[in-house]
Amino acid sequence: MTKMNLSFYTGRRLEVAFKIVGNVEEFKKVHKPHLSFMVILRPTYLINGDVTDIDLERLRADGIAGLIFDLDSTLIAPRSGVLSDEVAAWLKFARLHFKIAIVSNNKKEPYLKKAQEVLEMPVIGYAAKPSRQAFFKVLKEFGLEASQIAVIGDRPLTDVLGGHRAGMKTVLVWPLKTQVEPRWIKMFRRLERCVIRS
Ligand SMILES: [Mg+2]
Repeated sequence: MTKMNLSFYTGRRLEVAFKIVGNVEEFKKVHKPHLSFMVILRPTYLINGDVTDIDLERLRADGIAGLIFDLDSTLIAPRSGVLSDEVAAWLKFARLHFKIAIVSNNKKEPYLKKAQEVLEMPVIGYAAKPSRQAFFKVLKEFGLEASQIAVIGDRPLTDVLGGHRAGMKTVLVWPLKTQVEPRWIKMFRRLERCVIRS
């Protein structure tokens, strides 16, 4: 069990204990302990674009066979339930070559139901990422090794951290190009990327 002090990220005293699995242990052997939290926030693949800019052929070549998507800002704009033509076309290709599912922290039942219909794939809500439970549920459904699954999302502290804790690969994307966000959120996202790169 590893203990991490999150004061730097949260602005208040907060210490969490969690078990790190997968490649992160290897990282920790060569990094100083105080850097290990940033290491587990560092995605396996950092994409300078949205989900449609992910090179699926590269993921296939790297042995990935299952994809777990975050929902809001990754596949659809938050609270919209609308799938863009661009994402729909990209998903059509992804469906042919990967097992796919969505793990979301969203708790609105009607919205999750609508997302499941629109996106035509299993949606697990109430996931409380970075908790690993929902990822393990999908892992069982997929019948794959954790290392064959990539978690794709727009947030390091939920999607990337949760994926790594479950021993999976991770892909960090920017929110959808079509999504308009307040300036302060954009600034925060840039700051997040600076932190995980350091
Ligand atoms: Mg998101």
